[in-house]
Amino acid sequence: MIPFSPPRIDQRVIDEVTKALTSGWITTGPRTKLFERQLTEYCGNKCTVAVASWTAGMEVVLRWWGIGPGDEVIIPAITYCASANVVIHTGAKPVMVDINPDDFNISVEAIRRAVTPRTKVIMPVDIAGFPCDYDGIFQIVNDPSIKSLFQPNSDLQKRLGRILVAADAAHSFGATYGGKRSGAIADVSCFSFHAVKNLTTAEGGTMSINLPDGFDHEAIYKDLCVKILHGQNKDALAKTQKGNWRYDVTEPGFKCNMTDIQAAIGLVELDRFQENLDRRRTICLAYNEGLKNESWALLPKMKDEKRETCYHLYQLRIAGASEAQRDAIMQAIFDQDVSVNVHFQPLPVLTAYKSRGYKIEDYPEAWDKYANEITLPVYFDLTDEQVQIVIQAVKNAVKQVLG
Ligand SMILES: *Cc1c(COP(=O)(O)O)cnc(C)c1O
Repeated sequence: MIPFSPPRIDQRVIDEVTKALTSGWITTGPRTKLFERQLTEYCGNKCTVAVASWTAGMEVVLRWWGIGPGDEVIIPAITYCASANVVIHTGAKPVMVDINPDDFNISVEAIRRAVTPRTKVIMPVDIAGFPCDYDGIFQIVNDPSIKSLFQPNSDLQKRLGRILVAADAAHSFGATYGGKRSGAIADVSCFSFHAVKNLTTAEGGTMSINLPDGFDHEAIYKDLCVKILHGQNKDALAKTQKGNWRYDVTEPGFKCNMTDIQAAIGLVELDRFQENLDRRRTICLAYNEGLKNESWALLPKMKDEKRETCYHLYQLRIAGASEAQRDAIMQAIFDQDVSVNVHFQPLPVLTAYKSRGYKIEDYPEAWDKYANEITLPVYFDLTDEQVQIVIQAVKNAVKQVLG
């Protein structure tokens, strides 16, 4: 069986994790701090706080920003459930909007129509690693007529004076937009380092902050580090210093710090990230090459003048296939021992959101894209030979189902 997205675990990762395990310090410490600095350097943003997951990081960001009941956060209808759940946890309302006709990303026109005086955050999701139209999104939040609608209810919101752009960059580590890397494009970006992501720490993520000049990013970094450790004004490592045991708790904080064991994996992953990205690009281009002459193959958008994906996911679409036919094609691919996936079921079809009143009929593009989508395997250890097996399996399956 060709798996869908196994992690790249080799002797180098095992050695680094072993070093962390035997170093005498296994939770947040020197490796996490080094990882944060290297992430900031790589992405070109202003500061990075490593956390236990994307979900934990984005929820802390929203609460730090003062998001709560009465507020609205605009998200796309196609994304992982986490994007909506963190908003719901704060008591705010996720306002779902449709995606573009030609890619899986949130539609800028749909965002513009959804903005109200209660809109505090726009959360674009860089699906598959392809950056959203950030120029279009920043045009909206900076539009004088939209700025004049904005009703800030926290000091940070007042200082920014407009809607915050907080990117769900769970897929887009290493992607570029207008010469900038993901993490340095939106005001805030959260990465996910979950096991299936294109840079992993088993579980993990970031709050990658890149607010306009005038915000004190050193102070923000310190503040966020306190928030992710119960509001303690000293972390565990600082407390072990001679005579340094006493600490204060300045607010009832969260507990979602990254451990040095996770950071040990991340440091290796980051060090060889370019090699990983190049391999993923080669695989995606080989899929394009192998499928481009098939009349039914709708190939994913991966690059244009402004942006390039980080090749996290290869989202193939089968022209003319219904949802049931797509499911049958997937089954026929699995039957040839190749694992595939779907990214994603639109949120309005899932019980948690359907029961909150979201209706799939309101998101025709999301439904159309979802119904005939199949995600093919992409990862460093996938060989050229396996790529050809996947292509052949897809062709056989489509022929079997669609004739
Ligand atoms: C994986 C993923 C998340 C959640 O990441 P965790 O690190 O598992 O919390 C959020 N958004 C998208 C689009 C994802 O794919």
